[in-house]
Amino acid sequence: MGKVIAVSNQKGGVGKTTSVVNLGAGLASAGKKVLVIDLDPQASLTISLGFQEPDKMDVTVRDVISRVINDEELEAGLGIQKVRENFYLLPSNIELSASEVSLVNVMSREMILRNYLETIRDTYDYILIDCMPSLGVLTVNALAGADSVLIPVQAAYLPVKGLQQLVKTIYTVKRRLNHKLYIEGILFTMVDRRTNFAKEIVQSVTDNYGKSIPVFPIEIPLSVRAAETSQMAETIYDYDPKGKAAAAYNELTKEVLGHGC
Ligand code: ATP
Ligand code: MG
Repeated sequence: MGKVIAVSNQKGGVGKTTSVVNLGAGLASAGKKVLVIDLDPQASLTISLGFQEPDKMDVTVRDVISRVINDEELEAGLGIQKVRENFYLLPSNIELSASEVSLVNVMSREMILRNYLETIRDTYDYILIDCMPSLGVLTVNALAGADSVLIPVQAAYLPVKGLQQLVKTIYTVKRRLNHKLYIEGILFTMVDRRTNFAKEIVQSVTDNYGKSIPVFPIEIPLSVRAAETSQMAETIYDYDPKGKAAAAYNELTKEVLGHGC
């Protein structure tokens, strides 16, 4: 049975999507069958995997959610696009913002995505969910359906307060909806080791959370090449294979593989 990892942080621009792309591609290169789900109406994941006009796509995660809400039949693989060998995408577009609204009045609204995930879990080794920067009902759906949460934290501002709120939400979901949920780890992204500020933030988060929440021993360095990949519709391994960001994502992949399913 596949492992579902939600990649979440309600703070915007911390490297969620970049991490889903490059961890997903890393796991696929390691021979695992991977599905990445775009759960953000901004559709950055969909765009960075080469689907430049998400609003023109016929079937997206929104349709899957609607079918589950309406108890309609779901054909196997509905909406799923092949990106490359072992690597699949369930895309999103702006229409997903309507799901956020329509879910409000649905019975068991937090469990809709989980119901869907149960139907596809056996098909993949890993399913990564790229959450939007909010703690709304769609993100709660991701947490309710996941086995674990990976939390990217950008080492460029003081993230401690926002993290408190996220961790509180994760534990509420764990208590009420998904007892097995655990935190895969905090992943520091865009780390510039030349600055004391970055070092202080890494230290402060580790001091505040490191005892109760695992922190990945790998940091993703700040890298112009990494920033460019989202426009290039390429993974960091293709775009800058010898760079330090590719090496870091490669190490992260090994770490996640080592955590097991
Ligand atoms: P959102 O909350 O809007 O969904 P996000 O958390 O998914 O954002 P990304 O889109 O992955 O964050 O990254 C935000 C920006 O930072 C993007 O322009 C991306 O290219 C850039 N970026 C990501 N990782 C790095 C890195 N290691 N070094 C430099 N820039 C990076
Ligand atoms: Mg994103």
